[in-house]
Amino acid sequence: MNDLQIDDIKTDENAAMVLLVDDQAMIGEAVRRGLSNEENIDFHFCSDPHQAIAQAVRIKPTVILQDLVMPGLDGLSLVREYRNHPATKDIPIIVLSTKEDPLIKSAAFSAGANDYLVKLPDTIELVARIRYHSRSYMTLLQRDAAYRALRVSQQQLLDTNLVLQRLMNSDGLTGLSNRRHFDEYLELEWRRSLRDQSQLSLLMIDVDYFKSYNDSFGHVEGDEALRKVATAIRDATARPSDLPARYGGEEFALVLPNTSPGGARLVAEKLRQTVASLKIAHNTPAEGSSLTISIGLATMVPQSGTDCRLLISAADRGLYLAKNNGRNQVGIE
Ligand code: GH3
Ligand code: MG
Ligand code: MG
Repeated sequence: MNDLQIDDIKTDENAAMVLLVDDQAMIGEAVRRGLSNEENIDFHFCSDPHQAIAQAVRIKPTVILQDLVMPGLDGLSLVREYRNHPATKDIPIIVLSTKEDPLIKSAAFSAGANDYLVKLPDTIELVARIRYHSRSYMTLLQRDAAYRALRVSQQQLLDTNLVLQRLMNSDGLTGLSNRRHFDEYLELEWRRSLRDQSQLSLLMIDVDYFKSYNDSFGHVEGDEALRKVATAIRDATARPSDLPARYGGEEFALVLPNTSPGGARLVAEKLRQTVASLKIAHNTPAEGSSLTISIGLATMVPQSGTDCRLLISAADRGLYLAKNNGRNQVGIE
């Protein structure tokens, strides 16, 4: 029943599929006749108990009527087999016995039967019991299907949230972290460094003469150049805790937790050289120039009562120095 959808089950709520397993064809005929005038009850008869499980798996009954005494196979063992088979383990079983015997009855229930009738039961009673068990089985299937559907949609929701989170945190043009995520991350790392009293480094990176680049080559080329610079910044990070971000416009930032001034300087200098070596043609400051970046660097061990904006300001002052000293260099206050 596993491949049944909720809707399939719902539409067939009142339908019953009966499988009678009995070695006597006469019983089969009698039950068939009894059920023939009932709407929505499909009847299947299996006279070979060895075929019962296979037939139940195939026709997916909503109720099994099971004879207890059959040649070659004990009805109770068969009840246990239904219970052990994944496809039949929940199907209601009405045991058909030849007599009203408390011992047999008790054995039938402990083997896993749901009901007990003495052959041949009155049609009204048989139909009522079939309908009752069938409906409760359908309800069980519906509940299971609804539960599975819920699990699927919960998983989809989790996946969607992950995608949303990634979108919310990333910059559309470059794919680096956006300003929002940068602010959150720096704040978090500032507090961690305060606790650990470790060195937190920050690079502020600005593309040189970029206004002129846009003016000369257009914004499409400008965007392309920004993407190349962003890739170089992403490639410059070595540790999972390093965070490259687009700070705004043609400015980028790189958060380097647990990094000394010397280490940060190495990263910055390597990045500056990488961008220069891309040889993105520019006409400023002179014809035949390449696009370059200037970098401001600051490192701090946060003190309590201070704010991470201190670090941003310090790196900004380094950037200002780099610009004033001729650009295409790393500035440290
Ligand atoms: P400096 O060397 O002093 O940094 O000069 P600059 O021209 O790079 O600096 P300025 O701040 O005057 O100009 C930055 C320019 O960056 C302005 C704008 O044309 C360009 N810019 C900012 N954001 C984007 C963007 O998303 N795409 C493109 N193509 N250009 C951008
Ligand atoms: Mg700028
Ligand atoms: Mg600039």
